[in-house]
Amino acid sequence: MDLGIKGKTALVCASSKGLGKGCAAALAAAGVDLILNARGADALEATAQELRDAHGVKVTAVAADITSPEGRAKVLDAAGQVDILVTNAGGPPPGLWKDWGRDDFINAMDANMLTPIALMQAMLPGMMENGWGRIVNITSGSVKAPIPQLGLSNTARAGLTGFVAGTARQVAEKGVTINNLLPGIHATDRAVMLDNGVAKAQDISVDQATQQRKATIPARRYGTAEEFGSTCAFMCSQHAGFMVGQNIVLDGGAINATI
Ligand code: NAP
Repeated sequence: MDLGIKGKTALVCASSKGLGKGCAAALAAAGVDLILNARGADALEATAQELRDAHGVKVTAVAADITSPEGRAKVLDAAGQVDILVTNAGGPPPGLWKDWGRDDFINAMDANMLTPIALMQAMLPGMMENGWGRIVNITSGSVKAPIPQLGLSNTARAGLTGFVAGTARQVAEKGVTINNLLPGIHATDRAVMLDNGVAKAQDISVDQATQQRKATIPARRYGTAEEFGSTCAFMCSQHAGFMVGQNIVLDGGAINATI
């Protein structure tokens, strides 16, 4: 399917690996020029070169921590006004409700709520003036079904979801859509980190922890970054112009709900 976005420009945050990279690759395949970001410069430049070679699009790599004001300023300065914004950052660490203090919550909200909000605030005026824009926030299935050990994520992402719900409906008349993409478990470094945590906590092997988790997913497997990226690219396409303020779950059926 022609997504109708060839020649547009996208800023994809936290995109040297994992789900962000999957989104960047799918947008590049649709002919979109990219600004990529991650903290580690080597993996980021390797991904940038991979996408230039594979798709012939222009790729600018900006090594910076997207969750810090300085890092964000560096990325926004390099990006300029873009047509498509995909927000993403690393997820907060797992833990137990009684152990988190104010600083833990502030850090989680900075990374997974206030950073995407600041990025949207920076890009929305130009998108609205241009009469076209697409924003996809990578959040988590934990927004729909809480993951107990990821209480910091549950909390911060709920705040972002509330902001998007109201804001998406204020900007839609200008041709700008904002939606969230909610990953269930996907085969990335993050999943390996989470499975390692379960293995340690339950004194089982990492493979056992992985098999145990797969058994809870109706699809009986983890999602791939490629599948995730393709859905993101569709949400950024011309075809998705009537999708406004939605929370799209990609989880192999793991959340057991009728709607
Ligand atoms: P990942 O495989 O660990 O990749 C994270 C990417 O983000 C890397 O490129 C990393 O590069 C970059 N990054 C992390 N923190 C950053 C920061 N502060 N500034 C800039 N770049 C940063 O993670 P993932 O699985 O793709 O997960 C992406 C998001 O989806 C996370 O928020 C995660 O919590 C959420 N999620 C994932 C899953 C899953 O199953 N994978 C499920 C639910 C939710 P550097 O380390 O070099 O910066």
